[in-house]
Amino acid sequence: MKTQPSQVMSQVLMSVGENRVRLVDLYFDEKIARIQPCIDQDIQWDDISDPEKWESFKEEFPASVFPQQIQVHQGNFMLLIPGAIDTHVHFNTPGFEHRETFETGSYAAACGGVTMVVDMPCTSLPPVNSAINFERKRKIVERRSYVDYAFWGGVRGNDFALHKNVNRFIAELSRVGVAGFKVYTISGMRSFHYLNQECLLQTACWVSRTAKPLAVHAEDRLYVRYKQHRYQTKWQNDWRAYCDSRDDIAEARAVARLIYIAQKSNAKVHITHLSSALGLEQVRRARLEGLDFTCETCPHYLYFTQQDFENTEISAFLKTAPPVKNDYDREALWDGLKDGSISFVTTDHAGCDPVKEKSDWNFWGVYGGIPGVEHRVPFLFSEGFKKGRLTLEETIQLLSTQAANFLNLAHRKGRLKVGMDADLALVNLWDSQIINAADMHSKGKYTPFENVEFDAIIEKTFVRGKNVFNRFEPEIAEPGHGEFLKIS
Ligand SMILES: [Zn+2]
Repeated sequence: MKTQPSQVMSQVLMSVGENRVRLVDLYFDEKIARIQPCIDQDIQWDDISDPEKWESFKEEFPASVFPQQIQVHQGNFMLLIPGAIDTHVHFNTPGFEHRETFETGSYAAACGGVTMVVDMPCTSLPPVNSAINFERKRKIVERRSYVDYAFWGGVRGNDFALHKNVNRFIAELSRVGVAGFKVYTISGMRSFHYLNQECLLQTACWVSRTAKPLAVHAEDRLYVRYKQHRYQTKWQNDWRAYCDSRDDIAEARAVARLIYIAQKSNAKVHITHLSSALGLEQVRRARLEGLDFTCETCPHYLYFTQQDFENTEISAFLKTAPPVKNDYDREALWDGLKDGSISFVTTDHAGCDPVKEKSDWNFWGVYGGIPGVEHRVPFLFSEGFKKGRLTLEETIQLLSTQAANFLNLAHRKGRLKVGMDADLALVNLWDSQIINAADMHSKGKYTPFENVEFDAIIEKTFVRGKNVFNRFEPEIAEPGHGEFLKIS
């Protein structure tokens, strides 16, 4: 006899494409067990988008009735999406926990409707450059996460300089299950150096044998360092000098060189945090040539421009690398999301102690990093879907489905379908919130989105059937439910 699923999310709307939704009861245990439509017809979003229309729509339906033994979570006619996946976070455990920890970072993720993160290799000590260090980090992070997680491996210049067997490191890391390999064309981290052109090509050839992606921070190092040096020798220490030295040409030149490397090596190249129209043009060129060449962008590039550095309240908080660009770039990135040349949206979540590290009078010395894991989902619904830049389906794809595909996890994550992990986020699209640093859950409480209004709120988050966040019950879960996922 088939056992009854133990939980149900009652009366929720799920996207069925073309800006239409279906009212369903969704039954689940650790996996989604059954999706039961409450009515035959699907509903056009425009018919319920307005809060008044939504209220009258809700009145048409009596509450669903369920057997007593089922735990009922009220969906309240809100939107249910597959848990969001953020493939680019820096949670800093172990080694840089004065900035962020896996507990705080993953709880912030859960609060933001995120059910899985992939942590970067460079902001932990030791960095994840070998299977031994990978194993060490895996043990240390065990039972500390609220959400599921995987790790990026990394290849750093330091290991080439020390004549380490980098080829073996890559093969072993692939075997133990990293998501792919992160490299830098420019880096300010002592424990994780950039790769020069020769080492980058060599790395790409080795990584291509693993069939995993080579994720690249793409800015032209010599170009940036030359401009930076010119400014610094003239004592130009403001945000203008910083931004000009890391402009769109710096990005496009690095991406162009990576096209060459992808052609030579056959590696799947993935550009992280793409920031400019020129960079995007290069990505499109690579894709037109038939290369397996992908990229991501982040909310800050989709919202801010360099004019926002004039605002001294957020100027230091907005600093990251590459820096945000201009109006033209911002619009181009939205176009890139729409036409599919940008695969998904990540956050590059990287927090710090804002008092100690965001207060330097000299802009060159300000820590670069924005902790955004909690804001991405409401941001994209608010600025993307609600403003008509993206359809409902596209928004969900960019937050979850495409990242699951990228990670080879399409069989268990990224979709609301029977048999998939019950990773769920309940989104209220009829209420709004003003972003405030004091409300954040990551360790460093600061954000350039301070006082920005988002027309969407995360109400509940479930990771494989467990309720890890509830807007009105903040203490609902302990860390430890999140599982390490080995990527094949
Ligand atoms: Zn990053």
